Amino acid sequence: METKFQELKNRLLEVNDISSAAGLLYWDQSTYMPPGGAAARARQTATLGRLSHEKFTDPAIGRLLDALAPYEKSLAYDSDEASLLRVTRREYERSIKIPADFTAEVVNHTSESYQVWTEARPANDFERVRPYLEKTLEYSRQAANFFPGYDHIADPFIESSDYGMKATDVKRVFAELRQELVPIVSAITSQETADDSCLHQHFPEEKQLAFGLEVAQQFGYDMNRGRQDKTHHPFMTKFSLGDVRITTRTKENFLGDALFSTLHETGHALYEQGICMDFEGTPLAGGTSSGVHESQSRLWENIVGRSRGFWKHFYPQLQSVFPEQLGDVPLDTFYRAINKVERSLIRTNADEVTYNLHVMLRFDFELALLEGELEIRDLPNVWCERFEADFGIVPPDDKDGVLQDVHWYFGLIGGSFQGYTLGNILGAQFFSTAVKAHPQIPSEIENGKFLTLHDWLKENLYQYGSKYTAPEIVEQATGTPLSIEPYIAYLRTKYGELYDLES
Ligand code: ZN
Repeated sequence: METKFQELKNRLLEVNDISSAAGLLYWDQSTYMPPGGAAARARQTATLGRLSHEKFTDPAIGRLLDALAPYEKSLAYDSDEASLLRVTRREYERSIKIPADFTAEVVNHTSESYQVWTEARPANDFERVRPYLEKTLEYSRQAANFFPGYDHIADPFIESSDYGMKATDVKRVFAELRQELVPIVSAITSQETADDSCLHQHFPEEKQLAFGLEVAQQFGYDMNRGRQDKTHHPFMTKFSLGDVRITTRTKENFLGDALFSTLHETGHALYEQGICMDFEGTPLAGGTSSGVHESQSRLWENIVGRSRGFWKHFYPQLQSVFPEQLGDVPLDTFYRAINKVERSLIRTNADEVTYNLHVMLRFDFELALLEGELEIRDLPNVWCERFEADFGIVPPDDKDGVLQDVHWYFGLIGGSFQGYTLGNILGAQFFSTAVKAHPQIPSEIENGKFLTLHDWLKENLYQYGSKYTAPEIVEQATGTPLSIEPYIAYLRTKYGELYDLES
């Protein structure tokens, strides 16, 4: 058994090496590659993607998994070996269900669709990309049908990013959250909007980058196993547990962009850097779901990084970096500015309160499209109607409406958005559990100390990587299944202090 187990592990390491190399090519493409490299780079990453898929779906892996099944049964569920076999089997079975020809067709189609979208969006021309999106919907429905037996046609997509959850679970959680959230949003947005002009001044790029990275390191981001570079759309990427990188972007006329992007990506990176080193190169060496991953970016960015306590410590430092811009701005004004809540058009710029309404709108449309209840050609109008109902404003054009997010234009439709809101909910649930266990965490944050919080997260969440599913790890770490209560309590406390929520 041990030789077979080792053989499986060796094969998985090869798959990992190829996909890590593809990841490095992507990182380079997004940071330093000259534009002339684009065409060859697209081919190179596609080749590596095909190779790693071929290696992972090799029937030899299936035979090894079969041979090792009795061994797996003889082990405890939570042993590392059993977990590796369980998670590999789950991913293997999923991967072999999708024919390679279909995947290749979809890859070709989505790269064309993406190309057309990059031109259609600035031109505000939905009609141009509409036929591509219709084809994408067709492909999405075909993809779902490789997984017969689902309860809802979106389930295969939701399971691939948030394993353990189905469309009905997400619908139920979102309905509960919506009921609590809508009155909070109305109460806040009926009051005077916070003045965030202090953030819209000239802030030299180098100083912004240095400050953000300094905070990242204070959080616990290990620069011996990480680095930060500039990109257009910030992301975190990992080539091994010893090399977990973040990217950020700066706007010299807006302080919020680089700073909070950096803290967000740092949250993702802390999760990956915290994974047990024994899992290196295996399917266990990654965050367990999109919702749990996003819970960490949002915990560090919002719950910590936008808290008053955090800025009690860091604001004087920020003022000394930008004395001309912020020297005369009181902490309270700055705190209100970074927590400004408003009904706005763009999801990625939305505040932590209204953000979830943007997600729910997209999630509901994904379900309706897949169900056949909504046609692509009706999407722009339906988008505007729903947006007006939820936000009280009508998008002036499709560019900032149905064309704004890349997701549907560069991948299949389904499972793309729910993780963001699940992340908001879970971030608060993990944080409140950590604070219950260690009530000194808030006062440590006020003193610029994050060790107790970081250690709790490593011990209860990060170290396990993908060993447990999201529902398993949430229950194990917090003692209850996913619950919106900590998140609602967090919003009520924080925003109740900034606004009158009873009005
Ligand atoms: Zn994120």
